[in-house]
Amino acid sequence: MSGDPPTILVVEDDPGMRRFLRVTLVRAGYRVVEADRGGSALDAAATEIPDVVVLDLGLPDRDGMDVLKELRTWSGVPVIILSARDREGDKVNALDAGADDYLSKPFSAQELLARMRVALRHASRVEGPDQPVFRTGGLEVDLYRRQVWVDGREVHLTPKEYGLLAELAQHAGKVLTHRQLLNAVWGPDYGYEAHYLRVFMAQLRRKIETDPANPRYLRTESGVGYRLAAEP
Ligand code: CA
Repeated sequence: MSGDPPTILVVEDDPGMRRFLRVTLVRAGYRVVEADRGGSALDAAATEIPDVVVLDLGLPDRDGMDVLKELRTWSGVPVIILSARDREGDKVNALDAGADDYLSKPFSAQELLARMRVALRHASRVEGPDQPVFRTGGLEVDLYRRQVWVDGREVHLTPKEYGLLAELAQHAGKVLTHRQLLNAVWGPDYGYEAHYLRVFMAQLRRKIETDPANPRYLRTESGVGYRLAAEP
């Protein structure tokens, strides 16, 4: 195990929020680099090579979305967006533009650290060998054999149900937007048929959740998309 703590680039202009992020992350053992502008954030991303970027969308010099798009032209670093709770359109656009996850303000230190662990797992997975079997709680998805088990019992899924679950499992812990899921499972012509997703997600929940109305694995991100819980 390497002794270097992961480096987190925090991009936030609000000093109070920046302090909260710094204190929380440093206490958890991360190295923190800070930027309060979009321009300096891109400089820091290029020179410090962070393991994860936490990016506020409301910055004084440039829109956070522009910063994200520019960053994505040369870096695959995981990006967690910070956004105001009432701006769901922003979250969807940010995820579609290549953000990995988002946190709605206000959020707790625990929430931040849980998302950080997921982002760092994804960062390390980019180079590491692919793990063909995804496991969380009692759910197991064998992405090679295309088989699914819940609490040791094999579950039979239709190809579309399996496609949805596999896509979510490959990005477990991250939010996938309606458009991303539709594109991945139905194809590029199906960006807006969110009702397909609702139908198939309901079927999938009936097959894998103990209580489909109160799902443990397949979480709804209201107005945005779905997330397969990585640490239920
Ligand atoms: Ca701000």
